[in-house]
Amino acid sequence: MERIYLDFNATTPLDPRVLEAMLPVLQSTFGNASSIHWFGQRARALVEEARETVAAFVGAESGEIVFTGGGTESDNAALRGALAAASPERRKVLVSATDHHAVTHTAEALRREGASVVVIRSQTNGSVDLEDLAAKLDDATLLVAVMAANNEVGIVQPSEQVAQLAHARGALFLSDAVQAAGKLPLDVNDPPVDLMALSAHKLYGPKGVGALYVRRGTRIKPLIHGGGQERNRRAGTENVAAVVGFAAAVRLASADMASESRRLRGLRDRIEQRLVERAGAERNGEEPRVPNTASLSFPGVEAERLVMALDLAGVAVSTGAACSAGAIEPSHVLKAMGLPPARVQSSVRISLGRSTTPDEIDEAAARIEKAVERQRGGNV
Ligand code: PLP
Repeated sequence: MERIYLDFNATTPLDPRVLEAMLPVLQSTFGNASSIHWFGQRARALVEEARETVAAFVGAESGEIVFTGGGTESDNAALRGALAAASPERRKVLVSATDHHAVTHTAEALRREGASVVVIRSQTNGSVDLEDLAAKLDDATLLVAVMAANNEVGIVQPSEQVAQLAHARGALFLSDAVQAAGKLPLDVNDPPVDLMALSAHKLYGPKGVGALYVRRGTRIKPLIHGGGQERNRRAGTENVAAVVGFAAAVRLASADMASESRRLRGLRDRIEQRLVERAGAERNGEEPRVPNTASLSFPGVEAERLVMALDLAGVAVSTGAACSAGAIEPSHVLKAMGLPPARVQSSVRISLGRSTTPDEIDEAAARIEKAVERQRGGNV
């Protein structure tokens, strides 16, 4: 049986060209980038070259890029770092209800530690409720966190308006662009953001490396203390091969983003339409969406069981749900969108990627139709 991977929003495979860029570094550039000798300076040069590439990818200056251990760390560093550097009169944090747990759970932890954290509501289409944001923003607001694109339903948030509203009140804007990177062009000046989180493994780079963009002049304190790496903003010996891989991944993503987006959109629309027509699926979320993501509800079907049945049938998709301590928690994104519990429990995310072919899409659709039919017939 040929296995079909349709869970690229969870993670992507390392592109062989990224591996090719990383291998010589792993094999021979072992120096500590902080060492002053030749070995160290070779490593330093690679780290700085990678920083320039990642900076250019989002329209930033290289000094504004801090390499981190991934998207989760970047979000934590942004929220905790900004709050730690905040003045006493500006300590309120607003986070969008549909942001990733890397943002929402960090905000909840900060609330338990005494911070003032307010959640911004979502509209039923998955877009942040701008009126709610405007009503909750005040002169005590330090930061507004609204992701660039959602990992479950793919909706692209109205970052332009969020930036305007936040900046009009003197608040910082944190954009988690982990799922947008590689799928949409990104520019930290259009719309203007102050902090942006990125992760390499969502765009065919290695796991465990990411970046936090910090606009020049934005005050944040480091999350991790130790040596003076990353201009005192993130201590720890640099993972040279990982940042070189990150930069290689970013170059590949930039090279064919427009054509790849068109291709993926066509395939995504095809599987969506087919499952709507032949399996009674209902779409969650509205345009604008990233081109590779579909969130579909299958009435009368338990999503968790469907995902397991599909795994046996060789198709890898996911529910919006997170499995913690053996208990399945319904997707906080779909819940925040106000979808009825039955619809949330029957939702599956299908996310396409670089290696997805039209044949795979047709074969996956056929296997999904069959699995849905069997479950509806009680024949599991
Ligand atoms: N933010 C978003 C929107 C994500 O989708 C993810 C990963 O699922 C993260 C943050 C976390 O990134 P990482 O896996 O690199 O820690």
